[in-house]
Amino acid sequence: MKKYVLSFLIALTTTQPVFAESFVVGTVEAQRGHQSSGYLNVPPGIDAGTMIPITVAHGSGDGPTLALIAGTHGYEYPGITALQRIRKSLDPGELSGTIIMVHIANVPSFLGRTIYYSPADGKNLNRVYPGDPEGSLSQRIAHTITQEVIEKADYLIDLHAGDGNELLRPYVYMPLTGETELDAAAKGLAMSFGLDHIVIDEAPLRSIDDSLYTDQTALVRGIPAITTETGQMGSNDDYWVDMAEAGIWNVLRHLKMIPGAEEINEGITWLIDYQVVRSPQDGIFRAAVRDGYTIAKGATLGVLVDFFGDEIQEIRAPFSGVVNYVIGTPPVSEGEPVAMISRIQPD
Ligand SMILES: [Zn+2]
Repeated sequence: MKKYVLSFLIALTTTQPVFAESFVVGTVEAQRGHQSSGYLNVPPGIDAGTMIPITVAHGSGDGPTLALIAGTHGYEYPGITALQRIRKSLDPGELSGTIIMVHIANVPSFLGRTIYYSPADGKNLNRVYPGDPEGSLSQRIAHTITQEVIEKADYLIDLHAGDGNELLRPYVYMPLTGETELDAAAKGLAMSFGLDHIVIDEAPLRSIDDSLYTDQTALVRGIPAITTETGQMGSNDDYWVDMAEAGIWNVLRHLKMIPGAEEINEGITWLIDYQVVRSPQDGIFRAAVRDGYTIAKGATLGVLVDFFGDEIQEIRAPFSGVVNYVIGTPPVSEGEPVAMISRIQPD
């Protein structure tokens, strides 16, 4: 009997890879087959600290670790709401692998209702990675997420939307780093997220100390990553939330983390050479196009006027392509985006 048990155990250990009994992120520990929620603490430093709400779902079965980060920009809600839904309906007993959900990466910006920049330090969280434990709050948030979330992941999705001022047609940024395996894995994520516009983001690997972006911070560590954009103008409408949620479920099927066949994404429009058109000075932008319009080179994207309403200049498309997003509210500051345009990849 003893011998039988031993050989049975050996059979188990030789056929099943080691999969930890529990998974720990900060002070949040999830046992196998369960999920657990709590906060990552970002302690005070040169300014006040904050807390980052997270959920760790540790599956019953072996599999990869997927990091899902929402609320990097606090006015971009659909990803935040989609993760709340996933947390509610996910069954960790049916999960293979582990999901780390960052519900709101940037709580100061979320509660402060700010676009782009944190009200705490004026910094854009998606431009300060990998962060700095001695820096201001956004840098410390980035440092905490890098150490506690990104470095524990095998795959990463940073869930964005058009910010509170952006009319945006949904798309995925698919980074191309030049590293064959990394690029193939990122393409798998990008296609399985299910959106019909994928922007090929030529993103050669940055320095590990100066990765700037959430997705680059993963990529320079050899972790496939994409950035998704589902939503616009601060809307939390179901239309956008459904889109983000469906994308996540299909990525989970693609990675074989949940049962069911991946839905294959047919009919993708591949977009290349994206360019962010920026405002030459402070003023008021009046868009002449909407998100998703196709536009010819030299056609008017919108008009920049001064605070009295007098025209400063027309802002024109640098080349023919698709309007991925355009600014939909009046204020623009010098150097800020007014639109993003990309070319349709030729046949
Ligand atoms: Zn964003």
